[in-house]
Amino acid sequence: MAQKIPTRLYLSEDEIPKYWYNLRADMKEKPDPILHPGTLRPASAADLEAVFCKEPVAQELDETTRLIKIPDGLLDFYKAYRPAPLIRAYFLEKALGTPAEIYYKHEGTNTSGSHKLNSAAAQAYYAKEEGLDSLTTETGAGQWGTAMAMACAFYGLDLTVYMVKISSEQKPYRKALIETYGANLIPSPSNTTEAGRKILERDPNTNGSLGCAISEAVERAVKTDKCRYVLGSVLNHVLLHQSIIGQEAKAALDKYNIKPDIIIGCAGGGSNLGGLIAPFMAEKLAGTSHTRFIAVEPASCPSFTRGRYAYDFGDTAKTTPLLRMYTLGNGFIPSANHAGGLRYHGMNPILSKLYRDGLLEARTAVQTDVFDAAVRFAKIEGILPAPESSHAIKIAIDEALECKRTGEKKTILFGLTGTGYFDMTAYMSYNAKTMGDYIPTDEDLARGFASLPDIPQNKSR
Ligand SMILES: *Cc1c(COP(=O)(O)O)cnc(C)c1O
Repeated sequence: MAQKIPTRLYLSEDEIPKYWYNLRADMKEKPDPILHPGTLRPASAADLEAVFCKEPVAQELDETTRLIKIPDGLLDFYKAYRPAPLIRAYFLEKALGTPAEIYYKHEGTNTSGSHKLNSAAAQAYYAKEEGLDSLTTETGAGQWGTAMAMACAFYGLDLTVYMVKISSEQKPYRKALIETYGANLIPSPSNTTEAGRKILERDPNTNGSLGCAISEAVERAVKTDKCRYVLGSVLNHVLLHQSIIGQEAKAALDKYNIKPDIIIGCAGGGSNLGGLIAPFMAEKLAGTSHTRFIAVEPASCPSFTRGRYAYDFGDTAKTTPLLRMYTLGNGFIPSANHAGGLRYHGMNPILSKLYRDGLLEARTAVQTDVFDAAVRFAKIEGILPAPESSHAIKIAIDEALECKRTGEKKTILFGLTGTGYFDMTAYMSYNAKTMGDYIPTDEDLARGFASLPDIPQNKSR
């Protein structure tokens, strides 16, 4: 008789994976190298170490080591909130009347409320080991700033967070939470950096932007002794740290011999999705599985589905190294959207390569459909999802309903990246029916593409 599958597929503390999985090691076709924006040659470790911590830089450039040990001093911190639950969505299956089996990996059980703590803790751990005193970063929606503040409090590092000014005003509780954990929060643009002062001179009433906050954080890191900058997504080492999500999910599913047919995740910069799918993609690359992988992005910021595969800067101020990725152009300004964590112009290079090679699919969802799915999920499964995560919920529901239509009994796994407690303004707008959907026109996109660097590497393709 088939084994009864519990609602929560538990792993014990001892079963937390001891290794991150580096998907690039198993890709025969590797992503293109990161380029130094001045020389247009592959960036060296020394180039990157001017801004980032040493060990993450080594991980960024490592495309051959399959398994990378999670340091013991970091595993101890992970044990405070991991393993993250893997949940069988029995209630949702029943409500939809689908023959599909639905599972979700819940990364929102820690106080920061999202998966971002997995990489924040790793980056703070390495900074401390390296003998640094402080870190800088930026935050838009606030989840990354919160995660870094928690991690720096734990490892005893000072942290300065440049928070996009409009968000610091619209999300006072996020700001308060970051400050409660002891970080120095500066609304950006500010007069603490040259980059900030320049922008304020031009436009004293600006709302700020992620690109500007990145420039300020990088400038402060470079100019401060024993200080580096940390980034919460997009880069390959962040995706590596997030592979703990997939490693745990796979360990729990393997106990019950469950093989997902479809794995779905929302995609902002791509780290959570990349981390969730990594060990499953390994089997697909080896030819031992036929799992489908689906990235879900907001229709308002469609990097995969309408972007270009090109070398681009990670920030609007054009200061970072160049990454070859699906991008809308560093100058693309997404319309206001409540899924702040998904409003990024580019996509991680590993995922971009997999998408290019047909191993990863991508879909878009409009905001009101996403919130329909979010509220449905909250009422049925009990958890209030983050707007970002709800993109994955929307497509998981669509796939489950497709199974109902065809009678197929597929197994669906999706990533629930976080909870939505700090997103009540968004839920209020949905409840009041004032929420809109904006889909950029081709002209809007053309303006973004015009900001792509004019370099030979972007012409020959
Ligand atoms: C930041 C964030 C995302 C986007 O994650 P990426 O790894 O950048 O794709 C998704 N969900 C939540 C809750 C987030 O905070």
